[in-house]
Amino acid sequence: MRKLRMGMVGGGPGAFIGEVHRKASRLDGRIELVAGAFDIDPEKSRQMGKELGLNPSRIYNDFKEMIAKESALPADQRVDFVSVTTPNNWHFPISKAFLEAGFNVMCEKPMTMSLAEALELKAIVKKSGKTFGLMHNYTGYPLVKLARDMVKQGDLGEIRKVVVCYPQGWLARPIEKQGQKQASWRTDPKQSGAAGAIGDIGTHSENLAEFITGLKITEICADLTAFIEGRPLDDDGNCLLKFNNGAKGVLHCSQISINEENGLSIWVYGSEAGLEWHQEHPNQLLFKPLDAPVQIWSRGNGYVAQKSPAAARCSRLPSGHPEAFLEAFANNYVNFADTILAKEQGVTPNELFNDFPQVEEGIRGMAFIETAVKSAKSTEKWTAYPEV
Ligand code: NAD
Repeated sequence: MRKLRMGMVGGGPGAFIGEVHRKASRLDGRIELVAGAFDIDPEKSRQMGKELGLNPSRIYNDFKEMIAKESALPADQRVDFVSVTTPNNWHFPISKAFLEAGFNVMCEKPMTMSLAEALELKAIVKKSGKTFGLMHNYTGYPLVKLARDMVKQGDLGEIRKVVVCYPQGWLARPIEKQGQKQASWRTDPKQSGAAGAIGDIGTHSENLAEFITGLKITEICADLTAFIEGRPLDDDGNCLLKFNNGAKGVLHCSQISINEENGLSIWVYGSEAGLEWHQEHPNQLLFKPLDAPVQIWSRGNGYVAQKSPAAARCSRLPSGHPEAFLEAFANNYVNFADTILAKEQGVTPNELFNDFPQVEEGIRGMAFIETAVKSAKSTEKWTAYPEV
């Protein structure tokens, strides 16, 4: 087992998610950051690389220089993969360029700026033969994998209803007008895409609902609002959903729900039982059988491992010692890394290794955003998903 060499684009001084990727990727000692183009400003990229203690020759002005210079290095020195942690508008061009140059890619969500780009990226991934991961981190939580495996094993019966929400309150004031870094690009359609909250956090809810239930959303009735005057993208979204088995759903997300932090929560109801999971209390999953008391399934226990080997593989600590956000990112990184290493050794990655979000989830995310935006503008009650 060798360490994978990681490069990063984005994650400069003061950036949010790049640092989360750096911490999470090194949690299991399988990945080492060796190169990067960390900021849109080359000076700040250099400053970041220095702070991280990188070899100055591996700190780049931009991603194009990074591809050219990394490609020129001997195979046993150049980066094995790159993590794309820039604002949304850069995900597609940077992922495309690295894949076409023969590098594996881990990309932040939403995957692209449009469904058309997402479909193009799928073809590029296939042609490259490289591994592409999409950082839908919430499906990296062990008990989310347990929930999925309970549904798969039929413990809930036929799924009838899904309620999923992601309320936040940090955009309740126009902080983008004061230049707040994360708010500025998220409220700008040129950098964020066609949607605000529905793209930024609605996609996490959509991804969580489809991941746990194994169902596909087929139609949406969406109501999107920008409560802050002059904000060009939605900061609140309320959607009704139809799924491909006839199940119904409610999805809401908001960035103006004051004093909500990262309240991603899901309730799934089947014909035999329900389940409930909250991101802010991720080490417990509630299982609610018909005519019986509610059960609390707690991460790290043998009974979880028995039900879900995928959940067991993604737990590091004994039960009662909380694991959370960083570990969920790390779980996607571990499976991504093991898939790359298996392929390198000519072995087909097994189901547990392959258990991380990929290009298909990115396509579903872009279909969700485009359909929700279309529905919000429509006077029809339901808007159908495109065939993807
Ligand atoms: P941020 O504004 O904090 O950081 C973005 C960084 O990218 C900055 O350092 C910026 O200079 C750099 N950058 C921009 N364009 C670049 C380019 N062309 N080359 C190199 N660097 C460039 O943003 P953030 O909040 O960290 O979000 C970044 C991405 O991560 C977004 O796509 C967002 O949707 C996603 N995100 C995901 C999660 C999650 O839970 N999975 C959470 C937060 C953000």
